[in-house]
Amino acid sequence: MPTSSTATTQQRPIHNNAIAWCVVGVVLLVVAVVLLCYDPVGTWWMPQCAFHSLTGWKCPGCGAMRFTHALLHGHPLEALSYNYFLIVMLPILALVAYTGLSHSQRALRWSRWVYSPAFIAALLIASVLWTVIRNVVGSI
Ligand SMILES: [Zn+2]
Repeated sequence: MPTSSTATTQQRPIHNNAIAWCVVGVVLLVVAVVLLCYDPVGTWWMPQCAFHSLTGWKCPGCGAMRFTHALLHGHPLEALSYNYFLIVMLPILALVAYTGLSHSQRALRWSRWVYSPAFIAALLIASVLWTVIRNVVGSI
């Protein structure tokens, strides 16, 4: 028969990252609801891209809100036309969030790869190449 101290040690520990997961979930839900209800194209109060405003060039993330709006309305091909790079980046961003928020052994294994200098360098190079391609080739 377990004593009260044994029962306490057998209880599942409360993870500090549970709050972080909840915050991320709520923020993503709020963003999804806003982008579901409002089209970023015709809405004056949606944030504009500072890089595009300053340079006239599209950054790697330009079109992300239109992408999400179209995707939430069930138009995946239209979403893709706003930013092809997001299709590659979304799983990577999800993996970064997972490794940052979870303390599981699996997350630790993934974090060694995600935060490696080679992977970060590859992402930076891909982002710069995507920026140049989409602005030089145009309309992508
Ligand atoms: Zn941008």
